[in-house]
Amino acid sequence: MAAAANEKIDAKAQIDFPCMAQECEGKISFNLLDVRQKDFQVICPKCHTPYEFDAQLRDKLCRMCDLIVSIRKAEDILGNCNVSVTVAGGEVKIPYALLLTRLNTIITLQLGGKDVDFHLWVEPTSPETFR
Ligand SMILES: [Zn+2]
Repeated sequence: MAAAANEKIDAKAQIDFPCMAQECEGKISFNLLDVRQKDFQVICPKCHTPYEFDAQLRDKLCRMCDLIVSIRKAEDILGNCNVSVTVAGGEVKIPYALLLTRLNTIITLQLGGKDVDFHLWVEPTSPETFR
């Protein structure tokens, strides 16, 4: 495990996914940082179906977490970066930070042999960073 694994980040990295139980419309949400805990398990708040993540999924989520930590560290740099998108009328600049924080990220991963969309909600450490 990388050294970054033990670093604390203050930012919220909330993640949620829809319950896979039949006819359950529950939404399971957890803090991405908690995935590192041993015996990590989540339970649907509605139907109480427990979800255990296999090593592969946990590894992916942990690396996602590392990515967020890296983004945190680069927050001030990213504040000055733009993604330029070519459109019909020319070029539009989208602040990079906006892409990372204002748009909701969906990461599709395998859980129990099925593709599940995990929604990721990340907030910047400082509200000043991405005005
Ligand atoms: Zn459920």
